[in-house]
Amino acid sequence: MRSVPRVEDGPTKIAVIGAGISGLSAAIHARELGADVHLFEASPRVGGWIRTSRSDSWTLEWGPNSILPSSHCLIDLAKRVGLESQWQNADRCARKRFIWKDGALRALPSSPLSIPFSRALSPAGWCRFLMEPWIGRGGSEEESVSTFFRRRFGSEAARVLADVMVSGVSGGRAEWLEIDSFQPKLPQWEKQYGSVISGLLRSRSAPSAPLRRTATLAEGLEQLPRALAAELADRCHLESPIVALEPQNGGWRLQQGGAYSSDTVDVDGVILAIPATAAATLLDPLSSRAGEILQSIPYASLTVVQIGYDASKCRIRPEGFGFLVPSSESLGILGTIWSSSLFPSRCPAGESLATVFLGGSRHPEQIDESDAMLQDRAIGALQKAQGIDLDPHMVQLRRAPRSIPQPHRGHRRKVAALRNEVKRWPALAMVGSHLDGLSLESCARSGRDAAHQVYSLLNREEGSP
Ligand SMILES: Cc1cc2nc3c(=O)[nH]c(=O)nc-3n(C[C@H](O)[C@H](O)[C@H](O)COP(=O)(O)OP(=O)(O)OC[C@H]3O[C@@H](n4cnc5c(N)ncnc54)[C@H](O)[C@@H]3O)c2cc1C
Repeated sequence: MRSVPRVEDGPTKIAVIGAGISGLSAAIHARELGADVHLFEASPRVGGWIRTSRSDSWTLEWGPNSILPSSHCLIDLAKRVGLESQWQNADRCARKRFIWKDGALRALPSSPLSIPFSRALSPAGWCRFLMEPWIGRGGSEEESVSTFFRRRFGSEAARVLADVMVSGVSGGRAEWLEIDSFQPKLPQWEKQYGSVISGLLRSRSAPSAPLRRTATLAEGLEQLPRALAAELADRCHLESPIVALEPQNGGWRLQQGGAYSSDTVDVDGVILAIPATAAATLLDPLSSRAGEILQSIPYASLTVVQIGYDASKCRIRPEGFGFLVPSSESLGILGTIWSSSLFPSRCPAGESLATVFLGGSRHPEQIDESDAMLQDRAIGALQKAQGIDLDPHMVQLRRAPRSIPQPHRGHRRKVAALRNEVKRWPALAMVGSHLDGLSLESCARSGRDAAHQVYSLLNREEGSP
């Protein structure tokens, strides 16, 4: 790769566009490397899809609800801004997860020993599932999640387990998503150990994760982006959309929009941490091929309904993480997180909080339904699943349109072609959930890696390889 001439003397100037977790991670890491960082965010707040609202003793998460204990990069980011003592572990019951099947909640096994007691699959379905270590390696390029599951674990596991895993994580469909993009670890385990189950068991005995269990922050997950932005202080520019990018003397000229629409900013390097469609708008004038690829990445929309109720009236108490609904069942929702069962501090004493998810690729039409219809659907589903005489004390709703990128079959090939296309501008990196994985941890990692890539490129000695 060629080295890039700098815009001017002084520290390397890097612009990060988009202040979701991907952009915040990129900005914090680039700054720590010594860059003069400017973070531009179109909206009046940081965090992107991470959004917590707090009022009258309710803490409501409208985007991600919690992080996994193995989220090294996120936990490290939180430590850098003094939040290490703010992590709260979920209640032990978080290990219990359920699916809605044949008109009842069925526990998923929390360990291999509990498999015989789980009615999430039939006995024959579990037998085939447990034969997985004896199934030979196989698979094809761009295999879907459901084909991968059918091949390794049998058709019942594909129909039920792959289906709920995909809709629970991404609101997507197992037959459309690509296993290598959606859960790359699973095919890697198959290649490395000849078995997904062996890979899973070995990963459990790997060095211990930084947190004990699934966790959140004391004031909710939005505490993290807010603290990261406070660390960047006046280098974090809110209500500052970037509307055009132009290569300029080996660096970049950025055109601002909104209230600063006549302002331009010259920088040495750019990290684009915005959703695919917004990135397509910026890149299309430079490369119509890049614009086209970005536009072709599909997104799913979700609606989140928060319901506060009296759990003592339920036939089935909300004890566990929550439940997911396979597409073969007609409950009308994707699933529910029993938020206050995980984190009792999220609601007033004596109340319970359920966070219900609707829509996704399974029900794309739901995003256009009225609030009243969606709330009724969510309340009705909860009532049916838990047997509640539901008289909710609090109901709130928010839509998340086009919030979850869908790595359909061929996604990895698309991302490689896109990265190849933008290679001609070495000091331009692209990150975000549409490229490197949906989870907060993947986003934070891709931001960190991009900061290192752009900074080291700009600071490479002339003539070095
Ligand atoms: C309802 C829901 C539940 C989820 N649950 C989980 C979960 O439990 N666990 C988990 O790990 N993940 C979860 N996710 C996924 C995770 O939240 C996202 O993948 C992640 O937050 C995406 O971060 P990002 O920085 O890549 O993008 P975003 O959060 O989309 O941030 C992009 C930012 O760029 C800004 N922007 C756009 N255009 C411009 C422009 N031209 N100039 C400047 N700024 C611009 C936007 O305003 C936005 O702030 C969930 C997502 C949703 C929607």
